[in-house]
Amino acid sequence: MRLDAAARTDMNRLIPSAHMHDPIITAIEVHEYQYSLRNMARDYNGFNMVYAPDEKLELKGHILCIHTDSGLVGEFSGGTLAEYMTLPMFAQYLIGKSIFERERIYSDVKRALRQVARIGIGPVDVALWDLAGKYFESPIYKLLGGHKESVPCYASTYHGDENGGLSTPEAYADFAEQCLEIGYPAFKIHGWGRAPIAQEVATVQAVGNRVGGKMDLMLDPACEYTTFADAVKAGRACDDHDFMWYEDPYRDGGISQFAHRKLRQLIRTPLLLTEHVRSLEPRIDFAIAEATDYVRGDVIFDGITGAMKLAHAAEALGLDIEFHGAGPAQRHCLAAIRNTNYYEMGLLHPKAQASNDTPLYKDGYRDSLDAVDPNGHVPVPNKPGLGVEIDWDWVEKHRSGVTKYA
Ligand SMILES: [Mg+2]
Repeated sequence: MRLDAAARTDMNRLIPSAHMHDPIITAIEVHEYQYSLRNMARDYNGFNMVYAPDEKLELKGHILCIHTDSGLVGEFSGGTLAEYMTLPMFAQYLIGKSIFERERIYSDVKRALRQVARIGIGPVDVALWDLAGKYFESPIYKLLGGHKESVPCYASTYHGDENGGLSTPEAYADFAEQCLEIGYPAFKIHGWGRAPIAQEVATVQAVGNRVGGKMDLMLDPACEYTTFADAVKAGRACDDHDFMWYEDPYRDGGISQFAHRKLRQLIRTPLLLTEHVRSLEPRIDFAIAEATDYVRGDVIFDGITGAMKLAHAAEALGLDIEFHGAGPAQRHCLAAIRNTNYYEMGLLHPKAQASNDTPLYKDGYRDSLDAVDPNGHVPVPNKPGLGVEIDWDWVEKHRSGVTKYA
């Protein structure tokens, strides 16, 4: 079809006038805020968050904002302080760049941060995707080629406690049954820190006996087991109850390809490793070494750009990617690809507030036990960018610091 000059002019008018040139990054801000979780504390080593009646856990959150000369602002909320510590190393590199140069930025920053474990690219990349979505007035999952409007969740528990919450194998079984009744199609156990392996095995058995066959089940010791022998024992319990996956069992920290290849030879339950292996290549090396069955991806570590590269690399191997953690960016990634199964809803507990259930978003977006529909799905935000609206009044009230790079 040939277009005359008038028709071409009309088509150009479809592009909003503010968008006549690519927006340029002018400044970056990191906002830090404080919030607390009721009835929560840390367990024996000061790391795991566990249920503790009448206690309060003080936590810090972060929001990255990328400002542009067009007035559009890209926002990402999430990540620990560590993710923001490297920003002074590449903030000046970002200033003046087009918001659309994500591939160049991914490649350059990956190189620049090679001596600091490539920590810090994720939040910047997600905020750039938020900007792209806002510029094109499209939710991110549609820019990625996605079509799913909702995604199925697994209920991902807090670690076990000794305070009358998730304190016994039966308590986990009760909670799994509660999640099944709510609509969850899957349930993942985070066990105890420092528990005897017999107690971990008993939990797999109790949950398996109660809801096996009715839900997909997963076990994630989060690297708490101190020996390979314990990892084999719990893995064999998972075998007996047809668990869907077994994740990061023991104290190598989830990084030994050799050990997990050996573990795969001794048990039948599929492994899910690479949560603690950052970036694309080592994760794929793990799969090629036959040291994992599912591939773990993380938008906070690698951004949406890195996570989608991994999703497609896993697809090329015929494998599925499972995204770590809850958040709007994870929902968009899940909605955009075929080879994935579940959204990680959590961390959850029968008696305590979910770990991500804060009033940060004012548009109804939530990650909590009761955020799922009767089929155990959550919606994929359908507004431009990440599709969520940060409640800046709430952030203002809870802000504990802001750093600006310009
Ligand atoms: Mg995990």
